[in-house]
Amino acid sequence: GSVQLDDIPVWTPASGVSVRARYQKNEKLDRKISLYCGDITKLEVDAIVNAANKTLLGGGGVDGAIHRAAGPMLKKECASLHCCETGEAKITGGYGLPAKYVIHTVGPIIQGGVEEEERRALRSCYKNSLQTATEKAARSVAFPCISTGIYGYPPEQAVHEALATVREYLDAHHDKLDRVIFCVFLPADKELYRQNLPLYFPAD
Ligand code: ADP
Repeated sequence: GSVQLDDIPVWTPASGVSVRARYQKNEKLDRKISLYCGDITKLEVDAIVNAANKTLLGGGGVDGAIHRAAGPMLKKECASLHCCETGEAKITGGYGLPAKYVIHTVGPIIQGGVEEEERRALRSCYKNSLQTATEKAARSVAFPCISTGIYGYPPEQAVHEALATVREYLDAHHDKLDRVIFCVFLPADKELYRQNLPLYFPAD
């Protein structure tokens, strides 16, 4: 079965825990964040984000899982979009998925170390995905850990780009979104997000 938004717990920071927060508290962002560990294809939210490749025609990892669950009509619509550049995002229907939309974004491929250009591209993935969601009035958006699988972005670096970009987008557009869900798949990623969320969404 699918997992409804109401069944995805809201993440709240432990108050009084002194952390080296990188941002000040913004009470407008309270109850807008979730950390969910599991299969993104099961989430009954307005939009799920796909860590796609430039062809948008499907691949391995989360991309493969999304195309399998959505069915062949998704690939058909993706083909009509004629590719996607790194850091950009394009939206389709969800077809057989419980999510209404799929936002396809192409993360950077890391070979060797992370360069500034790749860091910016990863941030663009998160920002352009959120922008695309709000353009379609999607109010709940779930992200996988973009680029940290086959594309080789170190997860312990990617988590900071993901959290900072979502924080900055929500600061400017909190009225447009009800919930942003970080849908991790690996226990190690859950731990990374658990440790770092309080730096970007502090309790006080
Ligand atoms: P990329 O090519 O952008 O690195 P991958 O799909 O290889 O994309 O990996 C991105 C992340 O998606 C990884 O953390 C991987 O564990 C995770 N992942 C794989 N399958 C799923 C799924 N069904 N739901 C959510 N996340 C998934």
